[in-house]
Amino acid sequence: MEKERKLIIAGNWKMNKTVAEAVDLVKGLKLELAGVKEVDLVVCPPFTALCEVSKLLLDSNIRLGAQNMNENPAGAYTGEIAAFMLKEFSVRYVILGHSERRTYFGETDEWVARKARAAHAAALKPIVCVGETLEEREQGRTEAVLERQVRGSLAGLTREQILETIIAYEPVWAIGTGRNATPEQAQQAHAFIRGLLAGMYDDAVARRVRIQYGGSVKPSNARDLMCLPDVDGALVGGASLEVRSFADIVKNSI
Ligand code: PEP
Repeated sequence: MEKERKLIIAGNWKMNKTVAEAVDLVKGLKLELAGVKEVDLVVCPPFTALCEVSKLLLDSNIRLGAQNMNENPAGAYTGEIAAFMLKEFSVRYVILGHSERRTYFGETDEWVARKARAAHAAALKPIVCVGETLEEREQGRTEAVLERQVRGSLAGLTREQILETIIAYEPVWAIGTGRNATPEQAQQAHAFIRGLLAGMYDDAVARRVRIQYGGSVKPSNARDLMCLPDVDGALVGGASLEVRSFADIVKNSI
């Protein structure tokens, strides 16, 4: 059965790649993925490579994303990047509330929500990440944690804004560990998040919002995860750093 939502697969390059390496990677991806229309494709290089990657993507089916942004419009925030700076490079998406930002930089749900609202104000589509730790899962708290994160990190988004928001379910224990969620675990969490959206908004919103799975997605597990009824794409870390593995994830998902 055709899914009613188009898959969206995004590569999160994290703190990797020089500008020259980023250029090589994106040139390879353009060649490999030129004909792909069935999936929305996004790459999220580090800030330092946005300018060069942006030029290469002008004539391409791959869109540009950033890995974070500051929620303030401009001003005295040393070391930070504002939405208008991302817009200069035709950035369309921005990852917000990644578990690494929550863990290492203290980002809270409220903070992520402020960023999400600021992203929308600048017409950037946020990819808002949520997901439980291993300890939370083992204590049977997965749904409670997801509910807190989803309600908190999306707080204040209008119906129009939530429809332009991507949610990434990324169990923390699966990120960068090689241990992905089983299809059953992923489907259960995605269906739960979709149910939350129905309660927070309405059924039509719940049916339309795309929810990506993230956590050790690779070519060998992409098909089994992407065909799940409530999984609408992937946020890929490690396997997005090589042309072959990212392209194979995309091809195996179609
Ligand atoms: C991520 O960091 O968003 C991620 C999913 O990483 P990996 O694919 O390496 O697990």
